Amino acid sequence: MDYQEIENLIEKMGKKLKLETEMIELIKNPKRIVEVKFPVKMDNGKTKVFSGIRVQHNDARGPFKGGIRYHQHVSTDEVKILAALMSLKCAVIDIPFGGGKGGVTVDPKKLSQGELKRLTKAFAKSIYEVIGEKKDVPAPDMNTNPQIMKWFREEYEKLTGSSAPGVITGKALNDGGIEVRDEATGLGGAAVTAEVAKSLGKKPADVTIAIQGFGNVGSNLAHHLAHMGFKIVAVADVEGGMVHEDGLDYHQTIKKIKSGGKVCETCICNIHGPSKDCNKVSASKILETKCDILIPAAAGEQITKENADKIKARIIVELANHPILPEAESILSKKGVTIVPDILANAGGVLASYFEWQENVEKKKMKYEQAQKALISKMKKALVEVERVSKQEKVSLREAAYLVALKRIAKFTKI
Ligand code: NAD
Repeated sequence: MDYQEIENLIEKMGKKLKLETEMIELIKNPKRIVEVKFPVKMDNGKTKVFSGIRVQHNDARGPFKGGIRYHQHVSTDEVKILAALMSLKCAVIDIPFGGGKGGVTVDPKKLSQGELKRLTKAFAKSIYEVIGEKKDVPAPDMNTNPQIMKWFREEYEKLTGSSAPGVITGKALNDGGIEVRDEATGLGGAAVTAEVAKSLGKKPADVTIAIQGFGNVGSNLAHHLAHMGFKIVAVADVEGGMVHEDGLDYHQTIKKIKSGGKVCETCICNIHGPSKDCNKVSASKILETKCDILIPAAAGEQITKENADKIKARIIVELANHPILPEAESILSKKGVTIVPDILANAGGVLASYFEWQENVEKKKMKYEQAQKALISKMKKALVEVERVSKQEKVSLREAAYLVALKRIAKFTKI
């Protein structure tokens, strides 16, 4: 995905909303980009200099919000895109956060735990002045985790001399985190899927669903969809998976996978019982499964102009970030496929982060079941609003999501 793609959509939808040129310009560009170089003492006694970045896209609606990733290919362009998407995502689900993203150019697998800790503390030290519970709230992202967040927070608190549990989210449970966070993106995706499935006019048990990706998002999504009574006909991870038109027995399948079974070897279908009559499917072929709803929940850019025409689903719910390339999207929309865009469909994670931040900063506590309910209800509400705008303005759900988000951001952006 390039930044131009987002800029074009912001420009097009901004004009549709009749926003002033200056407003569109402000929303298109990050408010601030902080690029830093910082030294880290390595285990061999030598000092190595690393590059880090924090892009603060927009904070008109609340603190900048977004993850910090550690990856050897972290680039300013990519982080800029992700930060802008966070602003749109937070606005579309109507939480009082803006958008940000950060990263360090490093392959964390090549570092010892000690080096990782020193790197995290050094990065925190180099950006702590622009971070804060009410300024900019990072979270885990690719290759970062609650432990890394804890080190980040410790350094922040040491430098500022104050306790600040809400300066980061995605914390471990015993460290101010919340229970619903782990499953939140999958749960939010299931809520949105259940809502959009109503347009099919079928009972959940007759709605067939295929899921690509069985990591944090895909497995939690499958879990909640199965509990809601939907018929999951195919699941696959990067090594492949299983498909059966009568539906997989999700509960038995998951039990096997959790006890070490591979997705591609573990299929228990509803009708035939363990390991009989189910067909193997590759990670890419699962996209072409005969089903009502296809949910990409793996890597980005999986649906291309080469395979778009082979997709049989009537609805695609984008749980992965940017799973559909623009040329593929035109093919799909000509076929009448409804696409629930990523900035809405996978916003459950940041919504849970907001609940965590509220608990830490505003001392508003929610029980686990309450948080689940609030998350489902907020995700559904966001979809209903986007569907309404899509019908009213005769635009796609993606364009409608941008309209909803831009209107809300513009309302608080001062020019
Ligand atoms: P994960 O690393 O836990 O799992 C990724 C899954 O995708 C694994 O099952 C892996 O085997 C599979 N996979 C990878 N490449 C694949 C391919 N080419 N074909 C089929 N399967 C493939 O990651 P996750 O946290 O579940 O995230 C999945 C997607 O959701 C990513 O695009 C991520 O950016 C997006 N997302 C995640 C969150 C979150 O809270 N975790 C929030 C928003 C968006």
